[in-house]
Amino acid sequence: MILTRSQGERLAVIINASRPEWAIASISKILQTANQGNGLPAHDFNHAIRAAVAYATATSGGGEYVKQTPGFIHEPSRFWDDTAPAGKGYQSAPRPLCEEHSTFEAHSCPCCWADIKTGLRPDNMLGKRMTPATPANPAGVEAVKQAIKSLQAAQH
Ligand SMILES: [Zn+2]
Repeated sequence: MILTRSQGERLAVIINASRPEWAIASISKILQTANQGNGLPAHDFNHAIRAAVAYATATSGGGEYVKQTPGFIHEPSRFWDDTAPAGKGYQSAPRPLCEEHSTFEAHSCPCCWADIKTGLRPDNMLGKRMTPATPANPAGVEAVKQAIKSLQAAQH
């Protein structure tokens, strides 16, 4: 759903009330960015409130918050599925895939996490493309094939 300005402002305040360390300005920016795309994966505004609060307040077994930032609050996840109104025909939206490792979901890509843990990738680039796609280079591929052929020929 696309939020109205008033809904966006109220939702940002609710999320901030759930996690005061998440600034309203950055929450608002995330919601605005989502609104410029497909919007939130919500059935209605009430669902958006439940999902956003579930995301913000989820804790692990040890009592720590599961989410350290609001960065992925707008993306389809279990928080949206688990809080959807029953019997209203809510369909779970497809999970976005990692822009760089397309076999993994963007929010939990293990390749990106490995890069983040080793310092090769800033943590705000989880699931995002860091390098531009490499254009095909048929001349380079052909040069390598020729080099392999000549090495093989030299061995005989
Ligand atoms: Zn990745």
